[in-house]
Amino acid sequence: MPYCVHCGVELDPAVKTCPLCGTAVNDPAARPPEDRPPFFPTRRAEVAPVPRKAVSLLITSMLASVSVCCALLNLVLKPQYQWYLFVVGAAAMLWVWFVLPLLVNRWVPVWVRLTVDVGAVAVYVALIALAMDGWGWFRGLAVPILALAAVVVCALGWLLRRGHSMLTTVTLSLAAVGVFCAGIEACGDLYFYGAWSPGWSLIMLASCVGLCIPLLVVRRVPSLREEVRRRFHF
Ligand SMILES: [Zn+2]
Repeated sequence: MPYCVHCGVELDPAVKTCPLCGTAVNDPAARPPEDRPPFFPTRRAEVAPVPRKAVSLLITSMLASVSVCCALLNLVLKPQYQWYLFVVGAAAMLWVWFVLPLLVNRWVPVWVRLTVDVGAVAVYVALIALAMDGWGWFRGLAVPILALAAVVVCALGWLLRRGHSMLTTVTLSLAAVGVFCAGIEACGDLYFYGAWSPGWSLIMLASCVGLCIPLLVVRRVPSLREEVRRRFHF
């Protein structure tokens, strides 16, 4: 039974102030009323993830909007060239890269996704060649480089398919960059001069090899590997 802190009279548990002296009743032991909201949430709530459909719809509308704006601008800016088609092609390529994976719900092997991505680039470059009447460079230069890109990217994706350590990923990616650069120069040389005369790509390749060697050493020596892992937090 509570008592008034000021005058000491015995109080009814329901009263909020003392009926005798008017002092507010503040009983720490009193049970809080049932209807009062709790001080902190009692149920664990999570922010619902944004549905993939909504994201894909947003990106699609952005790409479509850019295409329409450029098509309208093309009516007044250099109308003799249909340059808006390049923008539309780029938008279509970006759509294949970013929206298509969101729409495909089931798991797709990495190499399939990468091949589709490189294929989208190939279609875009083919459209440019078509617009600029340049099938010669498309066949002689673009197709070999794109094929090389597909092979390098797929090989990298296949080697890294089971989520390797950061060190392995960086080492293999550097090696892929070196190989890709050498391939680009070889394709360019063969197309323009008819013979392979390696130059800048050898410097790139040597730099990549130079970067890979210490990484391979670190990977081989457990104590070094642990040290690097601790320092870079991975
Ligand atoms: Zn009182």
